[in-house]
Amino acid sequence: MIMQTTLTDSVEEAAAILNSGGIVAFPTETVYGLGAGICHSEALLQLFRAKGRPADNPLIVHISSVGQVAEVASEVNLQAMMLIERFFPGPLTLVLKKNSSVPYSVTAGLETVGIRCPANPVAREFLRLACCPVAAPSANRSGLPSATSWEAVMQDLDGKIDCLLRGTPSAIGLESTIVDCSEGRPVLLRAGAITLEQLRAVVPEITTMRVTEPEKRPKCPGLKYPHYAPRASIRLCTAGEQIDLKGSSAASIGMSEPPEGVSLSRVCRTTEEYGRELFGFFRLCDARNISVIYCELPSNEGLGRAIRDRLMRAAGLS
Ligand code: AMP
Ligand code: MG
Repeated sequence: MIMQTTLTDSVEEAAAILNSGGIVAFPTETVYGLGAGICHSEALLQLFRAKGRPADNPLIVHISSVGQVAEVASEVNLQAMMLIERFFPGPLTLVLKKNSSVPYSVTAGLETVGIRCPANPVAREFLRLACCPVAAPSANRSGLPSATSWEAVMQDLDGKIDCLLRGTPSAIGLESTIVDCSEGRPVLLRAGAITLEQLRAVVPEITTMRVTEPEKRPKCPGLKYPHYAPRASIRLCTAGEQIDLKGSSAASIGMSEPPEGVSLSRVCRTTEEYGRELFGFFRLCDARNISVIYCELPSNEGLGRAIRDRLMRAAGLS
Protein backbone atom coordinates (compact mmCIF):
# COMPACT_ATOMS: atom_id res chain seq x y z
CA MET A 1 0.00 0.00 0.00
CA ILE A 2 1.31 3.45 -0.93
CA MET A 3 0.56 6.25 1.50
CA GLN A 4 1.48 9.87 1.83
CA THR A 5 4.39 10.31 4.24
CA THR A 6 4.24 13.62 6.10
CA LEU A 7 7.74 15.04 6.59
CA THR A 8 7.65 17.43 9.53
CA ASP A 9 9.82 19.33 12.02
CA SER A 10 6.88 19.68 14.41
CA VAL A 11 6.89 17.29 17.38
CA GLU A 12 3.24 18.19 18.03
CA GLU A 13 2.20 17.26 14.50
CA ALA A 14 4.11 13.96 14.64
CA ALA A 15 2.60 13.07 18.03
CA ALA A 16 -0.91 13.90 16.78
CA ILE A 17 -0.41 11.49 13.85
CA LEU A 18 0.84 8.79 16.23
CA ASN A 19 -2.07 9.39 18.60
CA SER A 20 -4.58 8.98 15.79
CA GLY A 21 -3.18 5.50 15.05
CA GLY A 22 -0.42 6.38 12.57
CA ILE A 23 3.15 5.05 12.38
CA VAL A 24 5.80 7.71 12.81
CA ALA A 25 9.59 7.65 12.42
CA PHE A 26 11.46 9.80 14.94
CA PRO A 27 15.08 10.66 15.82
CA THR A 28 16.84 9.17 18.83
CA GLU A 29 20.48 9.24 19.95
CA THR A 30 21.02 5.61 18.87
CA VAL A 31 19.30 5.32 15.45
CA TYR A 32 15.99 6.58 14.04
CA GLY A 33 13.00 4.63 15.38
CA LEU A 34 9.70 3.75 13.70
CA GLY A 35 6.99 4.13 16.31
CA ALA A 36 3.45 2.90 16.88
CA GLY A 37 1.47 3.38 20.11
CA ILE A 38 1.20 0.07 22.00
CA CYS A 39 -2.51 0.89 22.42
CA HIS A 40 -3.02 0.95 18.61
CA SER A 41 -3.15 -2.67 17.42
CA GLU A 42 -3.70 -1.78 13.73
CA ALA A 43 -0.68 0.55 13.76
CA LEU A 44 1.47 -2.21 15.27
CA LEU A 45 0.58 -4.53 12.39
CA GLN A 46 1.22 -1.74 9.90
CA LEU A 47 4.65 -1.20 11.43
CA PHE A 48 5.75 -4.81 10.83
CA ARG A 49 4.43 -4.55 7.26
CA ALA A 50 6.21 -1.25 6.50
CA LYS A 51 9.56 -2.64 7.64
CA GLY A 52 9.06 -6.12 6.21
CA ARG A 53 9.83 -7.32 9.74
CA PRO A 54 9.10 -10.91 10.78
CA ALA A 55 6.37 -11.06 13.46
CA ASP A 56 8.57 -13.12 15.81
CA ASN A 57 11.05 -10.28 16.23
CA PRO A 58 9.97 -8.26 19.30
CA LEU A 59 9.84 -4.47 19.45
CA ILE A 60 11.40 -2.22 22.09
CA VAL A 61 8.89 -0.08 24.00
CA HIS A 62 9.95 3.56 24.37
CA ILE A 63 8.94 5.72 27.32
CA SER A 64 9.47 9.41 28.08
CA SER A 65 10.41 9.15 31.75
CA VAL A 66 11.63 6.67 34.34
CA GLY A 67 8.22 6.91 36.04
CA GLN A 68 6.64 5.17 33.03
CA VAL A 69 8.60 1.92 33.59
CA ALA A 70 5.79 0.77 35.91
CA GLU A 71 3.27 1.28 33.07
CA VAL A 72 4.84 -1.56 31.07
CA ALA A 73 6.84 -3.77 33.49
CA SER A 74 5.29 -5.99 36.15
CA GLU A 75 8.47 -6.50 38.14
CA VAL A 76 11.61 -4.39 38.54
CA ASN A 77 14.32 -6.13 40.57
CA LEU A 78 17.15 -4.38 42.41
CA GLN A 79 19.69 -4.81 39.60
CA ALA A 80 17.27 -3.34 37.07
CA MET A 81 16.60 -0.44 39.42
CA MET A 82 20.30 0.30 39.71
CA LEU A 83 20.74 0.27 35.92
CA ILE A 84 17.70 2.49 35.45
CA GLU A 85 18.98 4.97 37.99
CA ARG A 86 22.39 5.16 36.36
CA PHE A 87 21.59 4.89 32.61
CA PHE A 88 17.99 6.09 31.99
CA PRO A 89 17.42 8.19 29.96
CA GLY A 90 20.05 6.88 27.53
CA PRO A 91 21.06 4.21 25.00
CA LEU A 92 20.14 1.22 27.22
CA THR A 93 17.22 -1.21 26.78
CA LEU A 94 16.22 -3.37 29.74
CA VAL A 95 14.28 -6.59 29.26
CA LEU A 96 11.83 -7.01 32.15
CA LYS A 97 8.68 -9.04 32.85
CA LYS A 98 5.84 -7.34 30.98
CA ASN A 99 2.49 -6.36 32.40
CA SER A 100 -0.92 -6.74 30.74
CA SER A 101 -0.83 -3.32 29.03
CA VAL A 102 1.81 -4.63 26.59
CA PRO A 103 0.27 -6.73 23.79
CA TYR A 104 1.94 -9.94 22.64
CA SER A 105 2.24 -8.50 19.13
CA VAL A 106 4.88 -6.15 20.59
CA THR A 107 6.81 -8.86 22.46
CA ALA A 108 6.48 -11.58 19.80
CA GLY A 109 4.56 -13.68 22.29
CA LEU A 110 7.16 -13.37 25.08
CA GLU A 111 6.27 -12.63 28.71
CA THR A 112 9.04 -10.03 28.76
CA VAL A 113 9.34 -6.57 27.23
CA GLY A 114 12.33 -4.48 26.13
CA ILE A 115 12.08 -0.96 27.61
CA ARG A 116 14.06 2.14 26.70
CA CYS A 117 13.90 5.79 27.67
CA PRO A 118 15.85 7.75 25.02
CA ALA A 119 17.92 10.80 25.96
CA ASN A 120 17.44 12.73 22.70
CA PRO A 121 15.30 15.77 23.68
CA VAL A 122 13.16 15.61 20.50
CA ALA A 123 12.45 11.91 21.15
CA ARG A 124 11.56 12.62 24.77
CA GLU A 125 9.15 15.41 23.86
CA PHE A 126 7.55 13.22 21.16
CA LEU A 127 7.15 10.36 23.67
CA ARG A 128 5.78 12.73 26.32
CA LEU A 129 3.06 13.85 23.92
CA ALA A 130 2.22 10.27 22.92
CA CYS A 131 -0.97 8.94 24.51
CA CYS A 132 0.68 5.60 25.40
CA PRO A 133 4.19 4.04 25.36
CA VAL A 134 5.60 3.69 21.84
CA ALA A 135 6.86 0.41 20.36
CA ALA A 136 9.67 1.24 17.96
CA PRO A 137 12.17 -0.84 16.03
CA SER A 138 14.82 0.86 13.92
CA ALA A 139 13.34 2.89 11.04
CA ASN A 140 14.81 0.94 8.13
CA ARG A 141 13.67 -1.88 5.86
CA SER A 142 14.28 -5.13 7.71
CA GLY A 143 17.80 -6.48 7.16
CA LEU A 144 19.29 -3.21 5.84
CA PRO A 145 21.62 -0.95 7.85
CA SER A 146 19.76 1.07 10.50
CA ALA A 147 18.86 4.64 9.53
CA THR A 148 20.99 7.25 11.29
CA SER A 149 19.64 10.29 9.42
CA TRP A 150 16.19 11.40 8.30
CA GLU A 151 17.30 11.08 4.68
CA ALA A 152 18.08 7.39 5.21
CA VAL A 153 14.60 6.88 6.71
CA MET A 154 13.03 8.50 3.64
CA GLN A 155 15.11 6.31 1.35
CA ASP A 156 13.73 3.14 2.96
CA LEU A 157 10.23 4.07 4.09
CA ASP A 158 8.85 6.99 2.05
CA GLY A 159 5.29 6.05 1.04
CA LYS A 160 5.13 3.24 3.64
CA ILE A 161 4.76 5.24 6.87
CA ASP A 162 2.44 8.06 7.95
CA CYS A 163 5.04 10.54 9.15
CA LEU A 164 8.73 11.25 9.62
CA LEU A 165 9.70 13.64 12.37
CA ARG A 166 12.86 15.21 11.01
CA GLY A 167 15.78 15.59 13.41
CA THR A 168 19.55 15.72 13.51
CA PRO A 169 21.77 12.74 12.58
CA SER A 170 21.93 10.16 15.38
CA ALA A 171 24.67 11.09 17.85
CA ILE A 172 25.65 7.47 18.56
CA GLY A 173 24.65 5.72 15.32
CA LEU A 174 24.45 2.19 16.79
CA GLU A 175 21.39 0.51 18.33
CA SER A 176 20.93 0.45 22.11
CA THR A 177 22.71 -1.89 24.50
CA ILE A 178 20.23 -4.57 25.63
CA VAL A 179 20.40 -6.19 29.09
CA ASP A 180 18.00 -8.92 30.16
CA CYS A 181 17.05 -8.39 33.82
CA SER A 182 13.91 -10.53 33.69
CA GLU A 183 15.31 -13.54 35.53
CA GLY A 184 18.38 -14.59 37.50
CA ARG A 185 21.74 -13.14 36.61
CA PRO A 186 21.48 -10.17 34.17
CA VAL A 187 22.72 -10.92 30.64
CA LEU A 188 24.08 -8.57 27.99
CA LEU A 189 22.01 -9.47 24.90
CA ARG A 190 23.30 -6.80 22.52
CA ALA A 191 26.38 -4.58 22.85
CA GLY A 192 25.90 -0.84 22.40
CA ALA A 193 27.09 2.57 23.53
CA ILE A 194 26.59 1.71 27.20
CA THR A 195 29.57 -0.60 27.40
CA LEU A 196 29.95 -3.87 29.30
CA GLU A 197 32.59 -2.16 31.44
CA GLN A 198 30.15 0.64 32.37
CA LEU A 199 27.38 -1.87 33.13
CA ARG A 200 29.66 -3.98 35.33
CA ALA A 201 30.70 -0.90 37.29
CA VAL A 202 27.06 -0.77 38.47
CA VAL A 203 26.07 -4.47 38.40
CA PRO A 204 29.31 -6.55 38.46
CA GLU A 205 27.55 -9.92 37.91
CA ILE A 206 26.33 -9.10 34.37
CA THR A 207 27.33 -11.89 31.97
CA THR A 208 27.62 -11.87 28.19
CA MET A 209 25.07 -13.78 26.16
CA ARG A 210 24.33 -17.36 27.22
CA VAL A 211 24.40 -19.87 24.42
CA THR A 212 20.77 -20.96 24.13
CA GLU A 213 19.91 -24.63 23.95
CA PRO A 214 18.37 -25.41 20.56
CA GLU A 215 15.04 -26.54 21.96
CA LYS A 216 14.58 -23.31 23.90
CA ARG A 217 13.22 -20.11 22.38
CA PRO A 218 16.11 -17.79 21.62
CA LYS A 219 16.78 -15.30 24.41
CA CYS A 220 16.93 -12.35 22.05
CA PRO A 221 14.78 -13.45 19.12
CA GLY A 222 15.69 -10.78 16.58
CA LEU A 223 19.37 -11.61 16.76
CA LYS A 224 18.92 -14.68 14.57
CA TYR A 225 18.00 -12.54 11.54
CA PRO A 226 20.52 -11.04 9.13
CA HIS A 227 21.10 -7.45 10.07
CA TYR A 228 22.77 -4.25 9.05
CA ALA A 229 23.83 -5.56 5.65
CA PRO A 230 24.47 -3.27 2.69
CA ARG A 231 24.28 -4.67 -0.88
CA ALA A 232 28.06 -4.56 -1.07
CA SER A 233 29.81 -7.49 0.52
CA ILE A 234 31.61 -6.91 3.79
CA ARG A 235 35.18 -8.11 4.39
CA LEU A 236 36.61 -7.82 7.86
CA CYS A 237 40.27 -6.86 8.18
CA THR A 238 42.84 -5.84 10.74
CA ALA A 239 44.81 -2.59 10.87
CA GLY A 240 47.51 -2.44 8.18
CA GLU A 241 46.53 -5.79 6.60
CA GLN A 242 47.78 -6.27 3.02
CA ILE A 243 44.76 -6.51 0.73
CA ASP A 244 44.69 -7.56 -2.91
CA LEU A 245 41.84 -5.53 -4.41
CA LYS A 246 41.71 -7.42 -7.73
CA GLY A 247 40.07 -4.59 -9.67
CA SER A 248 36.75 -4.61 -7.80
CA SER A 249 35.27 -1.28 -6.77
CA ALA A 250 36.24 -1.32 -3.12
CA ALA A 251 35.76 0.96 -0.14
CA SER A 252 37.10 0.91 3.40
CA ILE A 253 36.21 2.14 6.86
CA GLY A 254 38.29 1.92 9.99
CA MET A 255 40.66 3.77 12.26
CA SER A 256 43.97 3.34 10.43
CA GLU A 257 45.17 4.25 6.93
CA PRO A 258 42.94 2.81 4.17
CA PRO A 259 44.28 -0.05 1.99
CA GLU A 260 45.87 1.19 -1.23
CA GLY A 261 43.58 1.45 -4.25
CA VAL A 262 40.15 1.78 -2.58
CA SER A 263 37.86 4.23 -4.36
CA LEU A 264 36.11 5.45 -1.21
CA SER A 265 37.35 5.43 2.38
CA ARG A 266 36.52 6.74 5.82
CA VAL A 267 39.18 7.04 8.49
CA CYS A 268 37.70 7.56 11.95
CA ARG A 269 39.74 9.08 14.76
CA THR A 270 37.81 7.45 17.60
CA THR A 271 35.57 4.43 18.14
CA GLU A 272 32.73 6.91 18.80
CA GLU A 273 33.21 8.38 15.32
CA TYR A 274 33.46 4.87 13.83
CA GLY A 275 30.14 3.90 15.45
CA ARG A 276 28.44 7.12 14.32
CA GLU A 277 29.64 6.83 10.72
CA LEU A 278 29.28 3.10 10.09
CA PHE A 279 25.70 2.70 8.84
CA GLY A 280 25.72 5.97 6.87
CA PHE A 281 28.92 4.81 5.17
CA PHE A 282 27.33 1.46 4.24
CA ARG A 283 24.45 3.35 2.61
CA LEU A 284 26.83 5.71 0.80
CA CYS A 285 28.76 2.71 -0.57
CA ASP A 286 25.52 1.23 -1.95
CA ALA A 287 24.62 4.56 -3.56
CA ARG A 288 28.07 4.57 -5.23
CA ASN A 289 27.78 0.93 -6.41
CA ILE A 290 30.73 -0.22 -4.36
CA SER A 291 31.05 -4.01 -4.49
CA VAL A 292 33.27 -4.72 -1.46
CA ILE A 293 33.67 -2.81 1.81
CA TYR A 294 36.76 -3.55 3.90
CA CYS A 295 35.97 -2.90 7.56
CA GLU A 296 38.68 -2.77 10.18
CA LEU A 297 37.74 -4.72 13.31
CA PRO A 298 38.31 -2.61 16.44
CA SER A 299 39.40 -4.27 19.68
CA ASN A 300 36.69 -6.03 21.67
CA GLU A 301 36.49 -3.49 24.48
CA GLY A 302 34.37 -0.45 25.22
CA LEU A 303 32.38 0.68 22.19
CA GLY A 304 34.60 -1.57 20.03
CA ARG A 305 32.51 -4.55 21.19
CA ALA A 306 29.33 -3.04 19.67
CA ILE A 307 31.07 -2.12 16.40
CA ARG A 308 32.55 -5.62 16.10
CA ASP A 309 29.12 -7.14 16.72
CA ARG A 310 27.50 -5.09 13.92
CA LEU A 311 30.40 -5.80 11.54
CA MET A 312 30.23 -9.55 12.17
CA ARG A 313 26.49 -9.58 11.53
CA ALA A 314 26.81 -7.41 8.41
CA ALA A 315 29.41 -9.89 7.16
CA GLY A 316 27.02 -12.77 7.92
CA LEU A 317 29.44 -14.26 10.45
CA SER A 318 27.14 -14.32 13.50
P1 AMP B 1 15.56 -3.21 16.81
O1 AMP B 1 14.40 -2.46 17.34
O2 AMP B 1 15.46 -3.48 15.34
O3 AMP B 1 16.86 -2.61 17.24
O4 AMP B 1 15.47 -4.65 17.49
C1 AMP B 1 14.99 -4.84 18.76
C2 AMP B 1 15.65 -6.06 19.32
O5 AMP B 1 15.50 -6.04 20.74
C3 AMP B 1 14.98 -7.35 18.89
O6 AMP B 1 15.46 -7.81 17.66
C4 AMP B 1 15.34 -8.30 20.03
O7 AMP B 1 16.58 -8.90 19.74
C5 AMP B 1 15.47 -7.36 21.23
N1 AMP B 1 14.29 -7.47 22.12
C6 AMP B 1 13.20 -6.71 22.15
N2 AMP B 1 12.32 -7.14 23.07
C7 AMP B 1 12.87 -8.22 23.65
C8 AMP B 1 12.48 -9.15 24.67
N3 AMP B 1 11.31 -9.05 25.28
N4 AMP B 1 13.33 -10.14 24.99
C9 AMP B 1 14.50 -10.26 24.39
N5 AMP B 1 14.95 -9.42 23.41
C10 AMP B 1 14.15 -8.43 23.05
MG1 MG C 1 16.70 -3.05 13.57
